[in-house]
Amino acid sequence: MVTDLVQIRREGEKLRPENLRFRKWIKSHTFVERQFRRAAEEVQVSIDCRTCAECCRVTEVQIVDRDVEKLARFLGISEQRFLAEYTAAGEDGKPILKRTGRGCVFLDGKECTVYEARPGNCERFPHLLRGSGSLESRMWDLVDRATYCPIVFNWFARVKALTNFK
Ligand code: SF4
Ligand code: SF4
Repeated sequence: MVTDLVQIRREGEKLRPENLRFRKWIKSHTFVERQFRRAAEEVQVSIDCRTCAECCRVTEVQIVDRDVEKLARFLGISEQRFLAEYTAAGEDGKPILKRTGRGCVFLDGKECTVYEARPGNCERFPHLLRGSGSLESRMWDLVDRATYCPIVFNWFARVKALTNFK
């Protein structure tokens, strides 16, 4: 299992064209989603997110009203204050968690300081096992995530081997 983030960044970028090709390829082949999910479960249990936190450093987290409610309650402040102090507008104008030079505003080293109340998007990340639609329909984002997330990077290697993709 590859967990070195520098290696993943380098190899993930190098593999991007191949992963895009794989994404297209599975659309024209029949595959068993359960097999892909099992591979995701196996990879996910062997990687400890607490030693990584790369997604908290590199991704923007979109939040919804439920997240705002939960986080404001957790921090003991009003929703208005939470929105003013901890959120910003994303590229599409929707609210995201504010970011510092080191990533998410709630990241401290490799720890999430609001872990119990973290947004749904963080709970579901990297959206291999939890997310809407089939895995196939989520493949576009996964190609990008394979350049920084050890779980997705290793999952791609497994499913390409499973399907004998060349
Ligand atoms: S809320 Fe926590 S889990 Fe989500 S990005 Fe921020 S630090 Fe990471
Ligand atoms: S989901 Fe991926 S990028 Fe995020 S902490 Fe876990 S292994 Fe790292």
